[in-house]
Amino acid sequence: MKVTFLGTNGWYDTETGNTCSVLVQSREYDIILDAGNGIAKADRYIKQDKPVYLFISHFHLDHIAGLHTLVKFKFPEGLTICGQIGTQSILDRFVTEPFTVPFEHLSYSVAFRELDEGAHFIPFPVTCLPLVHPAPCFGYRLTLDDRVLVYCTDTGFCKNAVTLASDADLLITECGLKSSEESPEWPHLNPEKAIHIAKEGTAKRLALIHFGAEVYRTLDERYEIFRLFKKDCPGLVIATDGLSIEI
Ligand SMILES: [Zn+2]
Ligand SMILES: [Zn+2]
Repeated sequence: MKVTFLGTNGWYDTETGNTCSVLVQSREYDIILDAGNGIAKADRYIKQDKPVYLFISHFHLDHIAGLHTLVKFKFPEGLTICGQIGTQSILDRFVTEPFTVPFEHLSYSVAFRELDEGAHFIPFPVTCLPLVHPAPCFGYRLTLDDRVLVYCTDTGFCKNAVTLASDADLLITECGLKSSEESPEWPHLNPEKAIHIAKEGTAKRLALIHFGAEVYRTLDERYEIFRLFKKDCPGLVIATDGLSIEI
């Protein structure tokens, strides 16, 4: 299974990258995690010949702003948008005139799958749990091709993130803050707390994304995390736009 980071910035686009979106290519499905501006690059990597599932963590714009580029895709096998209860009515207000082309006018079918907290089969296993964030936000645990992939952004340190990350082949989580920084009023993770989630959950690999645009102004500042923590966290991946990894 191939994971490609399409957008790795938190908040807004800068020269370091686009806002959050991750592509997961499994045998039967193409999965996209969040629809920040990075989603526009999905067709560089996929043939668009499989059913596509798009998981939305929450509705902050750095996770949905790229939805206005859905009109460029073909997706003959259709798109299913998965998210917390209420996702369809919220996105119907955003993906519509006069802002962009509404879902019903796209050239392919769009279905919604609203998910409660807990375990589902959609038609692959997915578990969703709420994370700690100023807006309701879901973390997802997906099982595809006998691999477990966990996506937790945006969040502060929380038990649900650890539960989702349990024995995962890959945990993708956020790194909004620099080492030892805290932001209790608007929870995000620093590298130490992201690593803490991975270790407590015994995730095999940890990929960091959602680097705060104001906080990490250069890619070198991201790579500094690798230099500081590579010994403490074997398998640490510092995601950048366009990076692909196999799990
Ligand atoms: Zn965000
Ligand atoms: Zn957010």
